[in-house]
Amino acid sequence: MTQQTNQQEFDRASQVLVGGVNSAVRAFRAVGGTPRFIQRAGGAYLWDVEGKRYIDYVGSWGPAIVGHAHPEVIAAVQAAAANGLSYGAPCVNESVLAEKICAMFPHVERVRFTSSGTESTMSALRLARGYTGRNRIIKFEGCYHGTADSLLVKAGSGALAFGNPSSAGVPEDVVKHTLIARYNDLESVRALFEQYPDDVACLIVEPIPGNMNLMVPVGGFLQGLRDLCTQYGALLIFDEVMSGFRVTLTGAQGWCGITPDLTTFGKVIGGGMPVGAVAGPAKIMERFAPLGNVYQAGTLSGNPIAMAAGIATLDLISKPGFHDELTRKMNRLVDGLNAAAKKTGAAFSARALGGLGGMYFRATPPTYFEEATDQNLEQYKRFYHLMLDGGVYLPPSPVEAFFLSSAHTDADIDQTVALAEKSLAAAM
Ligand code: PLP
Repeated sequence: MTQQTNQQEFDRASQVLVGGVNSAVRAFRAVGGTPRFIQRAGGAYLWDVEGKRYIDYVGSWGPAIVGHAHPEVIAAVQAAAANGLSYGAPCVNESVLAEKICAMFPHVERVRFTSSGTESTMSALRLARGYTGRNRIIKFEGCYHGTADSLLVKAGSGALAFGNPSSAGVPEDVVKHTLIARYNDLESVRALFEQYPDDVACLIVEPIPGNMNLMVPVGGFLQGLRDLCTQYGALLIFDEVMSGFRVTLTGAQGWCGITPDLTTFGKVIGGGMPVGAVAGPAKIMERFAPLGNVYQAGTLSGNPIAMAAGIATLDLISKPGFHDELTRKMNRLVDGLNAAAKKTGAAFSARALGGLGGMYFRATPPTYFEEATDQNLEQYKRFYHLMLDGGVYLPPSPVEAFFLSSAHTDADIDQTVALAEKSLAAAM
């Protein structure tokens, strides 16, 4: 069979898949051009159907923290697969993975696994409402928590990149309980609590957002959220689907030292297999069925292959020094990018926390949502395609964060920086 091109595969896919993709963020809508069809991935690299290699800074949007197809993860998956793909009954590895998560996070006594981050945030909201007997929820403009109806309001990530931060098909009645605040603006949160003092079930936040590109909380903001939730009897939910195990081993909460009431996880804990989790103290978590009256279930939840991949991944990233080394490499990359911007005079900036990074087509990194969206898209598009042509795969939107893995070498990073310098100069 003759080798197909990305364009041929995209044309073929577009005949049978909506927009040629199965997740909107994979389409190159924001940057234009043809999505790359990936044939294989290993370590820090992706290879497309044309045989071209890319240094990958998307990392499957987060899970690939130890690089693609890490031999220990693959061995664990193969061993688990040999024993069957799904049981629809409990298996021991569900407890093994949950024990690891409980041991890492002081507030976590119980875990409920799901098959995606979306299911975990959706279930956490239901739990918070069931537990508090209240209806309203607070979320932040630009934070993305998956595609559950009540959270798909002023969302970040792909929804934002396509200019549809709130989706059609979500009835107003369904989102009338969703209140929107401004990230890094505590007064906007306080005002909502003052308006509905007795009816906020929970506040859900990406404590370190990665879906309006990487944002960093200003001093006192997360503590302020903690204090307001405690004051008004609302649950504080940290959505650590992206930041968990990535910005530090214990996620954003390990970084800021603030304890939420519930945490949602995904991505890294499945090591590349579909997974999500809700985690928290027994007194809240045991309101989930079968012990409580908040219904939650899933055919593939706690899937044995996903559990095996997650256990192998957590074992690898729990090794002493893992995140220090990830941070060292990330700093090398970010410092290199910022130096390249300086040399070329480009209005560009970069920053990172652990293995989560942000590149911005603006002179300084943003603090507020409206700054995160105030970037030069035309320059990003040009830069994006120059990098892609040069063999570096970045998120195809300026409002997405980028991801580093332990498989990236200093040589990969230096090659990326050198290409970025040339590309920045040409893209301005
Ligand atoms: N929450 C956050 C913070 C995310 O970044 C994502 C996905 O990117 C989700 C939830 C949804 O996870 P999933 O895509 O696995 O449904």
